[in-house]
Amino acid sequence: MESCVFCRIARGEIPAEVVYEDAGNLVFRDIKPAAPVHLLAIPRRHVARLADCSGKDADLLAALFLAVNRAAAAEKLRDFRLIVNNGAGAGQTVFHLHAHILAGGNMSEKLL
Ligand code: 5GP
Ligand code: ZN
Repeated sequence: MESCVFCRIARGEIPAEVVYEDAGNLVFRDIKPAAPVHLLAIPRRHVARLADCSGKDADLLAALFLAVNRAAAAEKLRDFRLIVNNGAGAGQTVFHLHAHILAGGNMSEKLL
C-alpha cells in the first residue's frame, strides 16, 4: 500500500525506533506513547485490520504474536498488555494491522 504509514515505516521510508524485526514483522516505539513502554507490532504485509484475516492468514497472525514475545524479551519486559483496536468504532486510526504492547508504570489495574 503506497500511502499507508505503517507500510512506509516497514519499507524504511519513514523513520521509526525499531526494537525488533524479522522477515515478516516489525516492532517499533509508538510516536505518542500511552504508557512508559509503548510498542507497535506490525506484519510487513499490509492487512487493514484483524477482522480482515481468515484462515489463510493464520501463519501471519502466529508470526506476529511470536514477534511480540521476541520484542518483549528484547526490551526485557516480563509483564505487558496487548491491545488490538479493530475498526474506527474501537479507536483504530491506522488501518494496517498492529498490536499495541504496553508496559511499565502501574499496569496491574485491569480494564476488563
Ligand atoms: P490505533 O489508534 O490505530 O490503534 O493506533 C495507531 C497508533 O500509531 C497510535 O498509537 C499512534 O500514536 C501511532 N502512530 C501513528 N503514526 C505513527 C508514526 O508515524 N510513527 C509511529 N512510531 N507511530 C505512529
Ligand atoms: Zn500498510
